[in-house]
Amino acid sequence: MDDCIFCKIVSKEIPSDLIYENKGAMAFLDVSPLSEGHTLVIPKKHFERSHEMDIETWKDISDALDVVSKLLVGKMGVRNYNILQNNGRDAGQEVMHVHFHIIPKTKTEGLEIKWNSKKKDTKSTAKLLTE
Ligand code: AMP
Ligand code: ZN
Repeated sequence: MDDCIFCKIVSKEIPSDLIYENKGAMAFLDVSPLSEGHTLVIPKKHFERSHEMDIETWKDISDALDVVSKLLVGKMGVRNYNILQNNGRDAGQEVMHVHFHIIPKTKTEGLEIKWNSKKKDTKSTAKLLTE
């Protein structure tokens, strides 16, 4: 993808604060962090949404999420954190290249969550998804 900012980070056309990389994924600091240590984990190959990724890429992404989480915990003393991934503009995705946020949470910094729970008939949804 020629005009994708994260593809340019992968190709080193745009600099980043690289924390970790493996064959198919890389992790670098978010340029506008919600808290210190806010890191993005991305596939090196361009995928727009996570369901498009192949299983090998998922494995490399999981490895990077595991390694970076442990770095944040081990080296920065992070105790609470969120892992978040947005698919599609209405779900809050601004950069259309899959990325997972790892966001340390403190009393004053990090992700704000508003959970709009609704009463729904879950049985019919389960039927739809499993039949
Ligand atoms: P999202 O809203 O989930 O698409 O998040 C996009 C994230 O990418 C935001 O948190 C931005 O701060 C971050 N971001 C955008 N450009 C860069 C960049 N060049 N380097 C690091 N992070 C970036
Ligand atoms: Zn891209």
